[in-house]
Amino acid sequence: MVQSTFNLLATRLLPKVLSVEAGKRLSILVYHRVLDRVDPMRPGIPDVMGFDWQMEVITRYFQPLSMMDALARLDEGTLPPRSVCVTFDDGYADNLIHALPVLQRWNVPATVFVSSGFLDGGRMWNDSVIEAFTASDKTIFELPELGFEKVDITKPETRMQTCYEVIKRIKYIQPEQRLEKVSEICKALGSPKLPDNLMLTRDELRLLSKAGIEIGNHTVTHPVLTAIDNQSVLRELKDNTRDLQDVTQKPVKYFAYPNGIPNKDFNEEHKNIVKDLGFEGAVTTEWGVSSRSTDRWALPRFTPWDKSPQRFAMRIIMNMRSLR
Ligand SMILES: [Zn+2]
Repeated sequence: MVQSTFNLLATRLLPKVLSVEAGKRLSILVYHRVLDRVDPMRPGIPDVMGFDWQMEVITRYFQPLSMMDALARLDEGTLPPRSVCVTFDDGYADNLIHALPVLQRWNVPATVFVSSGFLDGGRMWNDSVIEAFTASDKTIFELPELGFEKVDITKPETRMQTCYEVIKRIKYIQPEQRLEKVSEICKALGSPKLPDNLMLTRDELRLLSKAGIEIGNHTVTHPVLTAIDNQSVLRELKDNTRDLQDVTQKPVKYFAYPNGIPNKDFNEEHKNIVKDLGFEGAVTTEWGVSSRSTDRWALPRFTPWDKSPQRFAMRIIMNMRSLR
């Protein structure tokens, strides 16, 4: 990182950082991927360099902790000031290839929540859409049944916006129907070849676990829990734990709700299922910070999106102050 940036952090930001109430609040950051280079089709996803300075900021100005230490110390009331956990969702291969070396360099513990149904060559439906838009040589996207009439996707900006609008429109339909829609979308984009190496293989997952990364449950097929019956929820959770333990030979202690918005993507019944299965904690995608009184089965998380170290650090501090 540029030295002057750190000087700025030290002289102007640090006094504010240090004034954050000590030992009361835990920020759990949520990442998905770390790319080899910035991708205009995936705005907001850091590349290795970006992730590197983010972890440098976490190490220098915050207290990185594993989920286990953070939750134990939250319980005991001995949480260090400015505590931060780093988590990743879904189980992307780049978590091993790009994120792990950075985490090791800065000695930052992390938890990766893996959907085991995509291990060894699988692809999540939203990635199929993004990759199809990325690889397509079409200049016009046309799919009237989804409400797209001859959209010019020549410009990267419009291509990206159209892609995410498509994702938004099919996000909450039933999984089987959604897969059909994804096929139609790919066809409309000229059926480009899509990558099959986005997610971890079992061998890569084993390496990640051996390197000390905590592996958490994120279901097998990544369903929105409110869209399936409770028997299926139970099966998704149990099968995922079994799959992950088969590979890592370690207990699976934490759970991340797919999609993760409370009262929309999961509810009280699902929290009870997670609790009854003996998990030690569960995380959501609701933005926020945790204190001792926060529901252990619905711990909020947060992603600072800023492109500069000082704003990134400031965002975490502002989040820490946002406790309701
Ligand atoms: Zn996910």
